[in-house]
Amino acid sequence: MKIGFIGIGNMGGPMARNLIAAGHDVTVFDLSEDHVASLVNAGATGAGSARTAVSGVDVVITMLPAGPHVLNVYEGTILGSAPAGALLIDCSTIDVETSRIVAKMAADKGYPMVDAPVSGGVGGAEAGTLTFMVGGSDADFASAKPVLEKMGKTIVHCGGAGNGQAAKICNNMMLGIQMISVAEAFVLAEKLGLDHQKLYDVSSKASGQCWSLTTYCPVPGPVLTSPANRDYKPGFAAAMMVKDLRLSQGASKSFQAQTELGARALEMYERFTDSGNEGMDFSAIIKMVRDS
Ligand code: NAD
Repeated sequence: MKIGFIGIGNMGGPMARNLIAAGHDVTVFDLSEDHVASLVNAGATGAGSARTAVSGVDVVITMLPAGPHVLNVYEGTILGSAPAGALLIDCSTIDVETSRIVAKMAADKGYPMVDAPVSGGVGGAEAGTLTFMVGGSDADFASAKPVLEKMGKTIVHCGGAGNGQAAKICNNMMLGIQMISVAEAFVLAEKLGLDHQKLYDVSSKASGQCWSLTTYCPVPGPVLTSPANRDYKPGFAAAMMVKDLRLSQGASKSFQAQTELGARALEMYERFTDSGNEGMDFSAIIKMVRDS
C-alpha cells in the first residue's frame, strides 16, 4: 500500500517507521527537513511538499500539532491533491469541532476519512502498541483498521466523525483530574505520618485504585517504572496535559457540559507549566500540590 505521511515529529516519526517495517511504501513530508532526512534513512521516500507526499497514494496520514495545522493542510493541500477515493486518517489530537469540519469537507469531496487520535505516547508509538480512538463511518473504520493495526494494539471505533477526538479528550480529562487526586492524597498522607508505600499497598487494592496510582504513581518507590523514579522526566509532559485539558474545556463550553473539576485541573496544570515546568511529566504536579 502507498501511504503519504505528513507530520513526522515525536509521534509521527516512529509511527511512519512501523508502517515501513510492515512493508508499506511510505512517502513523508514535514516542515523539518531533519525529520524527513531521518525517515529517508529508515526507508521512506522524502517529499519536498505536502502535495508531493499525497500524490498517487492509497492512504494519507496526518500527525500534526493542533486543529489549525490540520485544517490548513487539509484545505490547502490534501483535499484536491490526494487521489480520488484515497483514505484520509488524521491521528493528531485536535478539537472536536475542527475534526468534524474537516471530516465534512472531506466527505463533500468524496474522500473516506476517519479521525484516529492516539494514546500511549512516544513509547507506544515506537513499540507499535498505541491505542487508537476512531471516529467515522463503519465502512471507513473497516478500511482504516488494517493500517492502524500496524501502529497500534487497541483500535476502538467510537462512533461518527469527531468521536475519536471526543473519546481522547474525555479520557485525558479523567486522567488529569485523577492524577491531582492521587497527588493530594499522598501529600495529605505525608502530613499525617502515613508512609507512601503503606498508602499504595492499601489504595492499589481498595476503592481509590486508578491508573494514576498503579501505573504512574506520582511519588518515587511504589511503581518503579513511573516518572517519579526518574525525576519526573516525561512520559507525558505537563504541556501536553494542558493542551488536552484546554480541548476538553473548550468542548465543555461549546456543548454546555458541566466539568468543574476539569476546569480546576486545567487551572492547576497551567499554573504548574507557567512556572517553567512544561517539559516535566504531568505527575510532577505533586510538587506544586506539596509546596502550595
Ligand atoms: P511534534 O511537534 O513532535 O510533531 C509534529 C510535527 O508536525 C512536527 O515535526 C512539525 O514540524 C510538523 N508540522 C507542523 N505543521 C506542519 C505542516 N503544515 N506540514 C508538515 N508538517 C508540519 O508533536 P508530537 O508529539 O508528534 O504530537 C503530534 C500530535 O500527537 C499532537 O496533536 C499531539 O497532541 C498528539 N499526541 C502526542 C503524544 C505525545 O506523547 N507526544 C501523545 C498522544 C498524542
